[in-house]
Amino acid sequence: MKPFTVLGYSANDEVFCPACLRSTTGLGPADTDYNGHPILPLYAADTTVQEECCTYCGAALLDLRLVAEAERGKAEPAFHVEKTRHHGPQPALRFDRKPPEEIRTELKRAGWRWDPVAQLWWWPKGAPVPVPASLNLPPVPAKVVARPPTIRRGAPRAQA
Ligand SMILES: [Zn+2]
Repeated sequence: MKPFTVLGYSANDEVFCPACLRSTTGLGPADTDYNGHPILPLYAADTTVQEECCTYCGAALLDLRLVAEAERGKAEPAFHVEKTRHHGPQPALRFDRKPPEEIRTELKRAGWRWDPVAQLWWWPKGAPVPVPASLNLPPVPAKVVARPPTIRRGAPRAQA
């Protein structure tokens, strides 16, 4: 939880959780309260705020927030990524949404490039393609490069 996460509000000399502020006073965070005072956000960084309970529903502000965050985490599925191609043969990764910071850092560090026009990450070099393990993609099959047979002149050929 970030220090400036708003856990609730102080208005009308009472403490509200975000839901009760709206449902019982009809006020929004940007309004002034019934006494003409600005409604004060109660930030998570304030240790006294962490012990506050909502005057109306009685829930601890911190608990409400933790429950809300847990639910949001569940509701938001992880990004989806698929392999594709870019500039013809170049391996590329297409995300259906902006991947988390650590994934982007990992891609950048490995040498992937972001193409803002095509909206995908692509690999500008040849094999091996370093797909970050955190993407949980099936591994890139090692390409069998067909080499011309090596002919050693003068070397004995048959072993049988
Ligand atoms: Zn409440």
